[in-house]
Amino acid sequence: MAKFFLRKKIGDRIMNGHPWIFANELGDSEGDFEPGDIVEVYSYNGSFVGKGYVNPASQIRIRLLTRHKNEKIDEGFFYNRIKEAWDYRKSIGYVENCRLIFGEADGLSALIIDKFNDYFVIQTLALGMERFKGAIVEALERIFKPKGIYERNDVPVRELEGMEQQKGFLSAPFDTNIIINENGLKFHVDIENGQKTGYFLDQQDNRREIEHIVKGADVLEAFCYTGTFSLHAAHYGAKSVLGLDISENAVATARRNATLNGFDDTCKFEAVNAFDKLKLWAKEGKKYDVVMLDPPAFTKSRENIEKAVTGYKEINLRGMKLTKPGGFLVTASCTNLVPPEMFLKTIAMAAKDAHRTLRQVSWQTQASDHPILWNIPTTQYLKFLIVQVL
Ligand code: SAH
Repeated sequence: MAKFFLRKKIGDRIMNGHPWIFANELGDSEGDFEPGDIVEVYSYNGSFVGKGYVNPASQIRIRLLTRHKNEKIDEGFFYNRIKEAWDYRKSIGYVENCRLIFGEADGLSALIIDKFNDYFVIQTLALGMERFKGAIVEALERIFKPKGIYERNDVPVRELEGMEQQKGFLSAPFDTNIIINENGLKFHVDIENGQKTGYFLDQQDNRREIEHIVKGADVLEAFCYTGTFSLHAAHYGAKSVLGLDISENAVATARRNATLNGFDDTCKFEAVNAFDKLKLWAKEGKKYDVVMLDPPAFTKSRENIEKAVTGYKEINLRGMKLTKPGGFLVTASCTNLVPPEMFLKTIAMAAKDAHRTLRQVSWQTQASDHPILWNIPTTQYLKFLIVQVL
């Protein structure tokens, strides 16, 4: 097994539990290796740090999987880690649907597994993890006896690791249009063609947060995807709900979700550009009791954080203008590049420009099946805020 040595004075972040080792943190190495191999990492003065997989094509050169010298990275390792992650989910009450593996937060860097009742969707986002796909599938089969496993590796970050994008079955083929239960509602999930893994489990608890503010309300939801928040609004007693999303596919599924839950009369959906509509309707003076916004990440890179902040400010400013005095704004941000304090500051700036006062109702993050590790700050990414707009 090849050995890598950290450079002098490198280590605090890594010693404190962060699994990533960047190319510029590494000094000497000994021995041969292939991209994706498991290698050993030592400090500058030769003490053992951990074992992980290496990829010379990636800026994140090594991702550590264990800190124990004698722990083998093999089928058994993946079985144990996945089993541990499942036991943890069960212990905090996430049983039917959950993010079973949330990468670094579960000690399995670059691996995502979403569980939708008996179906599993996998992403292996680094070369070293890709090489263990067989072991991962085998572990899922042993622990869950799943009805189906599907790979959604159609994600651009794979290219940073020198891998192709791909998707397909990792089990016998099955009908990839499934139905899940959440908070007493049913939702269609399109595992093959839906966004990301097909469904946003990270908002599953936040969807319940709107229960009390939507009773008898006229609700507008922008960036509604398959209408999950909209249907919760109807379920909790909204008078009318209008959901907007730019994706025709998402809107078609949102309509099917309305039918599935018997809310065809309450919930309407339109495939439009929400930025244009919110701007136009704010100008026209339209008003709603509740406005909900869950836009896509405005940036994927640190260089564009300013752009993201401007985007969040604009959209929330319009959202506030569309909210009746005393109504509620429900707003979220899903990129870890905008930290919680920065998001709150941005909302405050929007309120100032809109000449509105905000009263905080609820301030949340992602559901706990996406664990936040305090020594890996990027594991916290979702911000979810409800304010009354006075
Ligand atoms: N709240 C949803 C997730 C929203 S993800 C849920 O919990 O399921 C963001 C959504 O914004 C995606 O569905 C995407 O299609 C949509 N979107 C992106 N750009 C848009 C635009 N300009 N106008 C409307 N929707 C847009």
